[in-house]
Amino acid sequence: MQTSYADVIVDISHEKLDKTFSYRIPSDLRDRVLPGCVVSIPFGAGGRVIRGYVVGLSTTCSVPADKIKEIREVVTDDETVDSRLVALAAWMSRTYGSTTIQALKTVIPIRKKIAGKQNKQVFLVNKSEAEAYLQVSLDRHFKAKARVLEALLKEEGERGVSQQDLLKRTGVSLPVLKGLADLGLIRIDVSDTYRKVVRDAQKLPPDQLTEDQEEAVREIREEWQDKDRPVLLNGITGSGKTLVYMQLISDLLKEGRQAIVLIPEIALTRQTVLRFVSRFGDQVSFLHSRLSQGERYDQMKAARQGAVSIMVGPRSALFTPFPNLGLIVIDEEHESTYHSEQMPRYHARETAVKRAELEGAHVVFGSATPSLEVSSRAREGLYREVRLKNRYGRSQLPSTEIIDMREELAHGNRSIFSDRLRDLMENRLNKKEQIMLFLNRRGYAGCVTCRTCGRTIKCPHCDVSLTQHANGKLVCHYCGYQQDSLTECPSCHSRQIGGLTIGTEQVEDLVKRDFPRARVLRMDADTTRGKEGHARILAAFDAGEADILIGTQMIVKGHDFPKVTLVGVLMADLSLNESDFRSSERTFELITQAVGRAGRGERAGTAIIQTYQPDHFGITTAAAQDYDAFYQNEMAFRTILGYPPAGSMTAILGSSTDQQQLKTGMEYLKKYIGLFDPTNALEAIGPAPQSVGKIKDRYREVIYIRNKDRDRLIKAKDLIEQYLAINPGFAGIEIQFDMNL
Ligand code: ADP
Ligand code: ZN
Ligand code: ZN
Repeated sequence: MQTSYADVIVDISHEKLDKTFSYRIPSDLRDRVLPGCVVSIPFGAGGRVIRGYVVGLSTTCSVPADKIKEIREVVTDDETVDSRLVALAAWMSRTYGSTTIQALKTVIPIRKKIAGKQNKQVFLVNKSEAEAYLQVSLDRHFKAKARVLEALLKEEGERGVSQQDLLKRTGVSLPVLKGLADLGLIRIDVSDTYRKVVRDAQKLPPDQLTEDQEEAVREIREEWQDKDRPVLLNGITGSGKTLVYMQLISDLLKEGRQAIVLIPEIALTRQTVLRFVSRFGDQVSFLHSRLSQGERYDQMKAARQGAVSIMVGPRSALFTPFPNLGLIVIDEEHESTYHSEQMPRYHARETAVKRAELEGAHVVFGSATPSLEVSSRAREGLYREVRLKNRYGRSQLPSTEIIDMREELAHGNRSIFSDRLRDLMENRLNKKEQIMLFLNRRGYAGCVTCRTCGRTIKCPHCDVSLTQHANGKLVCHYCGYQQDSLTECPSCHSRQIGGLTIGTEQVEDLVKRDFPRARVLRMDADTTRGKEGHARILAAFDAGEADILIGTQMIVKGHDFPKVTLVGVLMADLSLNESDFRSSERTFELITQAVGRAGRGERAGTAIIQTYQPDHFGITTAAAQDYDAFYQNEMAFRTILGYPPAGSMTAILGSSTDQQQLKTGMEYLKKYIGLFDPTNALEAIGPAPQSVGKIKDRYREVIYIRNKDRDRLIKAKDLIEQYLAINPGFAGIEIQFDMNL
């Protein structure tokens, strides 16, 4: 098949970029017209020649043959960051299944019609003229004019007075200033200002790298010289990964290149941001969800124009339009926030690798608990792995103890605190050391567990937990299997079976009851509402205003509290119950991170892991901080069941307000898959309700397809998209693809 048409977009940063135009590609340009390239085209009725970006190619075209215009030429000297980002968007729409427009809107910062914030400074044109006119004004009772001139005459200095200040101070209206300007007495200068996110930062001298850290930097640079594969920096908690990133970035800045640093969530990684700012000052900017659209656009503009060189931010910062991008760092690469839940449902890891390839930049992934995806690629030699094995300074990894909560129950302790944890808490409170209590709440929704033997009720077909539904049934979200809910445990016949119901608030109450002297802070979704919620609580704990910090997963990430010498993990196994094949991986991550919070200072720490499943490898390997053992075990499981990264898996997500229509539509889709895949090589499963079966009155169902070969899944997605496009029965159903399970 030959592509002979191109979709061209004329103004990529316009709010309404929804419109693409079709052009014929002349045969002599066929090899050169690719997504992202800049072409010159005749445009409009007059046939004026302008420039546009190619955003897609096709073999067919809906414009009648006698109406369609031809591309004039490929403008090769115009390769800019925009054209590279357009190419990236085209790749995203192809890979993840979205329209080109959706992908472009994700990638290109959109110029909104918000008046860009302008700074207006007012100057006196001539001092003596001003003095003369002031006299006139006073004589004639031009009170407003007199006040302005007086104020300006009082303000010596070359920088003038900001218009806003002047208006406020004198209480005059804008036309008064205009009048004085018309008389030639004052001048109003307008300059574009970036709404700077970082101001007047105090720069600190960089830390001296340790030998281990130096060695890691050396190995990474060596890789860049050699094959330049993406690098996995696998370093235990507290080993100084951030310092390694900063050293690499500092060298790239000297070469006139820029860097993007992705972090999972800004509120939770405040310390990381502050460290970047204190090292690089106002060369750094950062994005976060509370920036207004205008502020966001400004950050992007500042990056494009070279006013900043380092962008720190969540997933979307990946698209910062740096002209000479040198490095993309993805810190805590295992975090699920790097996976977008809007169309296109891209994964920042994979997209970063693609962007780096298009722009000749390097990629570094950092984690103490690398995802199986990245780790397996490193083991296959597709990525380079660099390790940091030691913690910085004198701090030791904490000693860990696993406490079997079934035994506590057996000897009559029904509390959420084991005897051992209670003793240690008492001990730390006496020594005035700090304690963190981490309540694992992941997977909490709906699963059913036996409190006597620890067994969780799982699907017989999928090895994921069944979820309790309101109608009393237990349902598998992978295959739709259902059974009646249970009143006794099938293994030990205990009647202590059911959903677990405990929240951070209850933990707080219990701590206050059992340790009335302790000062307690709680950090969860309720206490961190409002602008500075997280920061306030973390700062207070840091300042020693509390003895115990209680929290959910929020407290285990990224913070350094040197005075914490005891970490208690409550219900460590709860996340094993998530109805998701990644539940062991998440549990390993959470516990490893939680354990890593203890003993960051000079005093050694202890971590107590309370669980009903003390023998589960996700728990034992995390307690031992043994990533390799975890990897071996988990990878074996994924391989047997064909789960990613051993195979590829795609979710076809359908939603509709009409439950019956959705059900019928998804059944048809399944049948259609059977038509182009009669041997069921794609192992289509479903349709079944999504893990949340209804959101805001939209019903949600899912079909999974899987295969070793990702390209086969992409081809299947393309066929399904074509089927949906011509099938009117799907008009009321929204279908999305998630290619990155
Ligand atoms: P990681 O990201 O690997 O968990 P960090 O970069 O956060 O580790 O470092 C852990 C702590 O050790 C931080 O407080 C950091 O300032 C400190 N640290 C690490 N390396 C050094 C160094 N070479 N000099 C001074 N402090 C260091
Ligand atoms: Zn049981
Ligand atoms: Zn199942």
